[in-house]
Amino acid sequence: MRAFFSSIWLLLILSVGAPLAAHPGTHTHDLKDKKVADKSWTLVIHGGAGSMTRGKLAPEQDSAARAGLAKALEEGSAVLEKGGSAMDAVSAAIMVLEDDEHFNAGRGAVFTYKGVNELDASIMDGKTLGAGAVTGARYTKNPILLARAVMEKSPHVMLSNEGADEFSREQGLEQVNPDYFATPERWRQLEELKAKKLGWYDVDLKYGTVGAVAVDSEGNVAAGTSTGGLTGKRWGRIGDSPVIGAGNYADNRACGVSATGAGEFFIRLGVAHEICARMRMLGEDAKTASDHVIKELGLLGGTGGVIVTAPDGTATFAFNTPGMYRGKATSKGEKVVAIYGDE
Ligand code: ASP
Repeated sequence: MRAFFSSIWLLLILSVGAPLAAHPGTHTHDLKDKKVADKSWTLVIHGGAGSMTRGKLAPEQDSAARAGLAKALEEGSAVLEKGGSAMDAVSAAIMVLEDDEHFNAGRGAVFTYKGVNELDASIMDGKTLGAGAVTGARYTKNPILLARAVMEKSPHVMLSNEGADEFSREQGLEQVNPDYFATPERWRQLEELKAKKLGWYDVDLKYGTVGAVAVDSEGNVAAGTSTGGLTGKRWGRIGDSPVIGAGNYADNRACGVSATGAGEFFIRLGVAHEICARMRMLGEDAKTASDHVIKELGLLGGTGGVIVTAPDGTATFAFNTPGMYRGKATSKGEKVVAIYGDE
C-alpha cells in the first residue's frame, strides 16, 4: 500500500515537473527548436486602455502617444534583433514608456488621493517561471528594473512600499526625487476627480498603464507591466499590474500576457494566468483565449484590455474599451502602432 502511494507521488511529481523542465518532446522544446532555426521574434506593447476615440483625443496627445509607442518598439526590437532575450526586450520597451510622461507609469504616473505617486510593476520570465513585482515604490526611476531585481536578486516575488524602496537603494538602482514623477496634467486629473467627486473608474483617459510581451529568437516568452495605478487611489489600494497572474504572466508552454484596465476585475478573474491556462490546457490560440476572458471581464462589469503573444510568435490585442494604445513589431519587418478600436 505504501509503495503504491509512493509511486503515485512519484508519478505526480514527474508529471507536474516535466513540462517546466522542457525536456525533449515537450511542446516548449519543439517550439524552441523551430525558433532557434528561424531566428524569428515578436514584440507587442501597450500604453493603456481607455475611452480614447478619434474626436476626443487631442491631436498632440495622439501623436505624442504614437511617437512614444514607436520608440518603445524600436528599443525593444533592437534587443531582439541582436539575438537578445525576451526579458531584456520587455525591460527596454517598458523603460521608454516609463520615461515618457504621456503614459501612466514612471514619470507621468497618476496621483493617489493624497497627491503622491505610488508605482507598481511586475515582470515574468516564461522560461523559468521566475517573477518579480513591486507595489507602492516611490523613488526608483524605472520601477520595471526594480521588479526585475526582485526576481533576480532576492528570494521573493513581491516587495512593497518602504521595503521595496530600501531594496532598490541596496541594489544600486537609479533613485529620483519623487517630484520627478509628478506632472501638471496628472495633477489636474486628480483635482477633477476630487471636484466632481468621480469614482476611480469615471475619469476620462485615466488609464495609461504600460506593458510589453515578447518572444525571442530562442522561443522564450516574457511579460512586463508598469503603472501608477488609478487616479485618486486610497488606503494603499493595489491594482492588478503588480499581481502575477492578474495583470502579468508568462509561461513558455502557453503565452505572455500584460493587462491594463480596471485592476480589481482583472484580479478577480486572474486574467493573465487564465488566458495562459486556456491556451495550455484547452489548446486555444491567443485570440480565442483572450477574447473569451475579456468577454468574461465585461460580464463582471470590468473594462480594459490585454496584449498576448504565444511562443510560436502569434500575437493579439483584446480590449473592451473604445481604444488601447498599442504596438507590435516582428522580425518579419512588421511595425504597427494604433490607438483606436477601428485601427
Ligand atoms: N490596471 C491598472 C490598475 O488597476 C490601471 C490601468 O491599467 O490603467 O492599477
